[in-house]
Amino acid sequence: MADASPADAVAALDAAVAAAPAWAAHPPRERGEILRRAYETIVARVDDLALLMTLEMGKPLAESRSEVLYAAEFLRWFSEEAVRIEGRYAVSPTGSGRILTTKQPVGPCLLITPWNFPLAMGTRKAGPALAAGCTVVIKPAQQTPLSTLAFAAILEECGLPNGVVNVVTASRAGATTEPLLEDQRLRKLSFTGSTEVGRLLMSQSSKTLLRLSMELGGNAPFIVFEDADLDAAVEGAVLAKMRNGGEACTAANRFHVHETVAAEFAARLAKRLGSMRVGRGTEAGVELGPMIDAKQRDKVAELVADAIDHGARPLTGGAPLDRPGYFFEPTVLGDVSDQTRLLTEEIFGPVAPVISFSTEEQATAAANSTEYGLVAYLFTADVKRALRVAEALETGMIGLNQGIVSNAAAPFGGVKQSGFGREGGHEGIAEYLATKYIAVNMD
Ligand code: NAP
Repeated sequence: MADASPADAVAALDAAVAAAPAWAAHPPRERGEILRRAYETIVARVDDLALLMTLEMGKPLAESRSEVLYAAEFLRWFSEEAVRIEGRYAVSPTGSGRILTTKQPVGPCLLITPWNFPLAMGTRKAGPALAAGCTVVIKPAQQTPLSTLAFAAILEECGLPNGVVNVVTASRAGATTEPLLEDQRLRKLSFTGSTEVGRLLMSQSSKTLLRLSMELGGNAPFIVFEDADLDAAVEGAVLAKMRNGGEACTAANRFHVHETVAAEFAARLAKRLGSMRVGRGTEAGVELGPMIDAKQRDKVAELVADAIDHGARPLTGGAPLDRPGYFFEPTVLGDVSDQTRLLTEEIFGPVAPVISFSTEEQATAAANSTEYGLVAYLFTADVKRALRVAEALETGMIGLNQGIVSNAAAPFGGVKQSGFGREGGHEGIAEYLATKYIAVNMD
């Protein structure tokens, strides 16, 4: 794997800058058709790309397959959005002028992606950027550069002109991207990763007043009311917790369950998680793969130990697996105290703490008592309560009676320390467009 120097990153930006005018002028229909061909190619090669992802990241093949298909959806969706970039024409209030607006690509963008969804985080950014007419430099996470390189090769094969997408693989992320953030030719940064690095990049970007999109960490509450369909809530919980082995910004981090159903919910969830097959992602039937690295596994072990020290009771799991590799047992913890780090920090692993509540107000307040605000899950059969609580929760997204919210056609993103900007939906392409207003004198 090439290890880029800061000068290599600048060369990538040079290429993106040189390709920008022609790509911006490229007919939107043709931009869309390249994305559409890339969508079809990725779907046709789903098994190869899934294997590549499992080998570099560890998740089970079935999950890698789902991610590849989810990643491809962003290319299909934005291939359709490329031809729907519109402005407006209005008569000025005095009648003596006309107000015209048009949307133009913001220009060369830097896209920085994390390791947990190696392909989807790239297509979710590059899809709208390319549809809008922007050129890009992509800096994938150092643990998972292969999926991004495969994606770039497919774009090239599908007719993307040289210089429009440039991938920089690097082991020194900060040193490599710093010169780009200081370069006024770069017009936008879209970042997905931790809140801590997001804050740092935001401060570095202030020198050039870069346009920013920040998809950062989460601490998702999963609320189950007493009137919820408990079977659906348990299945939703398995999805919300165990998708990607819990290594997802959208992963349910804490389960707030009404006191009348908490014990039953916890027991059922423990039974489901306790029976999951753990192993290498390439083994048939495996439902949970290894964690990304030793550091992440040890952090999860530390958080669980802290919860147990504060009185939590493991209903299943509770420790790393005693075998080579970074495996952690699927874990459900009952009797979790308010004082544990588990409730305030992003776990990023297969651990589900269950906490009971007695009133709707208590549940909402507990759910909101975090600096994060990405997603919340809510299970109830009462429509009025569902809407009341959904409106009161301080998050960018809500899963209502479902444990998964990701959808290329929907606006993904957070509030508070989970960041700002939206990816997917109609909102996704707006992040890569600048509005130009043309004042017309009709006197
Ligand atoms: P991370 O450490 O913030 O890394 C994310 C990306 O930023 C990687 O490509 C990394 O490169 C790069 N990076 C790190 N330090 C940098 C610096 N000083 N300057 C420029 N780039 C830098 O996050 P992670 O641990 O890999 O990913 C997990 C986090 O991502 C979690 O907090 C999760 O919630 C969040 N996430 C959020 C979303 C969302 O949409 N909200 C989606 C997925 C994940 P290296 O690999 O070289 O360090």
